[in-house]
Amino acid sequence: SSFEKLGINQSIIKALNLMGYEQPTKVQSEVIPVFKEGQDILVKSQTGSGKTAAFGIPLVDMVEWEERAPQGLVLAPTRELALQIQAEIFNLGRFKRMKVEAVFGRSSFEQQEKMLKQRTHIVVATPGRLLDHVKRGTIDLSKIKYLVIDEADEMLDMGFVEQIEAVIKALPNKHQTALFSATMPDRIKELVDRYLTVPKMIEV
Ligand code: AMP
Repeated sequence: SSFEKLGINQSIIKALNLMGYEQPTKVQSEVIPVFKEGQDILVKSQTGSGKTAAFGIPLVDMVEWEERAPQGLVLAPTRELALQIQAEIFNLGRFKRMKVEAVFGRSSFEQQEKMLKQRTHIVVATPGRLLDHVKRGTIDLSKIKYLVIDEADEMLDMGFVEQIEAVIKALPNKHQTALFSATMPDRIKELVDRYLTVPKMIEV
């Protein structure tokens, strides 16, 4: 498949076959190589474009089993979206040794705390609950290399932008960021200017 031309691991190609994804969508063929090269990315795209796998595939491809603390962090506006993203990443990673967990509000903190004590490679989170874990010291963000901000405009509308900034400040200085948004209001552009480094802009 032309997923193979994108240079992703065979275990993911196998998972894609099982999921019935034969060809990359436009956003996938544009985002995957740039993400793998290590560049920051700003993506203007709608749901339905295949954007979840566009960041899910390179994340699954790049995380390393041996690392004990999470390496990938995905921020999403709602519990429902966080669970959908977790499920997609789980499916993409089913033939690779890796774990993905979701963390969101209105759900047992203690259970999430227990889960976060186990080896986890990718965490999908809503910003408020993630910050609760940061404040209580129940999540280790010191090894995060990849940050994905999904549906940034949605998070802006819900009043989460300050929380996103607080999360970014809790990450190691050297990390890669991919920001996805259907629209680019000024406050999101400001976030991009402040926290992304010469991002590649992709519009689909
Ligand atoms: P998303 O934009 O990530 O919400 O994806 C929209 C829908 O497209 C989901 O139902 C995915 O399972 C599906 N999808 C994503 N990538 C592909 C692909 N390369 N081939 C076929 N279906 C896909």
